[in-house]
Amino acid sequence: MTVTGIFGGSFNPIHLGHTRLGEALVREGLVEELWFVVSPQNPFKVNQELLCDEERLQLARLAVDDSRQLHVSDIEFKLPRPSYMVHTLEALRNQYPDREFRLVIGADNWERFPQWFESEEILRHHRIIIYPRPGYTLENVSERAIVANTPLLDISSTDIRQRIAAGNYNGEGLHPAVWNEIKRKKLYNYKSMRKIRVGMGYDVHQLVEGRSLWLGGIQIAHEKGLLGHSDADVLIHAICDALLGAANMRDIGFHFPDTDEEFSGIDSKILLRKTVDLIATKGYSVGNIDATVCAERPKLNPHIPAMQTCLAEVMGIDAEDISIKATTTERLGFTGREEGISAYATVLIEKD
Ligand SMILES: [Zn+2]
Repeated sequence: MTVTGIFGGSFNPIHLGHTRLGEALVREGLVEELWFVVSPQNPFKVNQELLCDEERLQLARLAVDDSRQLHVSDIEFKLPRPSYMVHTLEALRNQYPDREFRLVIGADNWERFPQWFESEEILRHHRIIIYPRPGYTLENVSERAIVANTPLLDISSTDIRQRIAAGNYNGEGLHPAVWNEIKRKKLYNYKSMRKIRVGMGYDVHQLVEGRSLWLGGIQIAHEKGLLGHSDADVLIHAICDALLGAANMRDIGFHFPDTDEEFSGIDSKILLRKTVDLIATKGYSVGNIDATVCAERPKLNPHIPAMQTCLAEVMGIDAEDISIKATTTERLGFTGREEGISAYATVLIEKD
């Protein structure tokens, strides 16, 4: 006899609270398998917020797809409606005589259980597994019942639906396949959280003798190099500032101060990678970059493809999304006098 837990509900939609509870019951040894029994719409109690039966069933199947112990049953779709658990269990007993079915209900439902249709009949045939719910204490538990010691899971389908419709839900309480399906079909009035932002950055470093010239992550042969606490890669610094600015996360000096020994002589590609990780903490990824380097000498155009390839690899984006331009300042100003090199960058970052 395979001990099989029956967890009925509308699953509107199924979330990680449901599947984690199922996994915990298996882990605790209270059931060998857990079946989610999706209830169809009650024809006498039409609920506007309830997604159609087939869609809820499909989402439930996506949520358990990668599990051997969790399954989804559509048995109530084939039974007279409205469905009563006593009939569902009877049908399951007849269809699967080699299984022992245990009914899984929350502590909130246990309080109301005596009012369930033919609850005595259910208790006569089945053991009940009661899982804890916030705000409900368990008293007068029947000897046919088992109280599960599973963690309280604070995820609510109602809350998920409201946040999806308001456009401020990121799918954190859902199986990724369920969330993708909701977005793809625009279920629950899904509104995209897609957001794009722009940022700009500017940086200057002095050109001095006795230093290597690093630009756009690569070393370029030249009689002078840029002076700075790090490797002084002025182009990367401008890009970092643009990314941080777009995410409204201050600037490069704030995160990597030039008074910190940790960053002394550091390869700026490391700072760029850290910056990409920083904006990712706000959910952003890099869209595209357009940058200009102002230098009288050396000629930079031949090096641009190598810079694009290098920066694309560091940031994990396509080289096609990085534009780098080089210009002189017509011998005017500090760049014209070859006292320094400056760089400008504009970036777009996005999240959805
Ligand atoms: Zn700099």
